[in-house]
Amino acid sequence: MKCPYCHFEDTQVTDSRITESGTAVKRRRKCIQCERRFTTYERIERIGLTVVKKDNTREEYSRDKLLGSMVVACAKRPVPADKLEEAVNEIEAQLFRLGTSEVPSTMIGEMVMHRLRELDEVAYIRFASVYRNFADLEEMREAMEGVASIHPPDNEHEPEPPKKAKATGRG
Ligand SMILES: [Zn+2]
Repeated sequence: MKCPYCHFEDTQVTDSRITESGTAVKRRRKCIQCERRFTTYERIERIGLTVVKKDNTREEYSRDKLLGSMVVACAKRPVPADKLEEAVNEIEAQLFRLGTSEVPSTMIGEMVMHRLRELDEVAYIRFASVYRNFADLEEMREAMEGVASIHPPDNEHEPEPPKKAKATGRG
């Protein structure tokens, strides 16, 4: 491990601990030459997982996208963030256990629904109501943002926006 300051090739580990989520090892290092300190994280290398969308196009699996779609489904619901992280960890473990490099997006959707159902009924319904119609998690998230706004919370602090006079004259 090269020192980021002086690029000396040898460093000493001064502390090593597992991160709170248990998915990485955090190490405090000290450069033997300049004695400056820095931190490194050791994580399991993600197997390159490709998601096959409904239209048969492919994209690289993204944890952020998956988590993002679940966060939106749980908007304004009493679901702790760490429960969602945990759910994503479980889904990933399930995916990697499949041992295949390509996974249909619908399969991931089913896994998400299964987890959401255990966490929160409303989040589950939101997710379930949109997931079948979309090929992509990002598209789905956008749609879900729409669904989430159909069920506003009781404290309506946001006034109704004025109707935009933006008629396109189409149709
Ligand atoms: Zn150094």
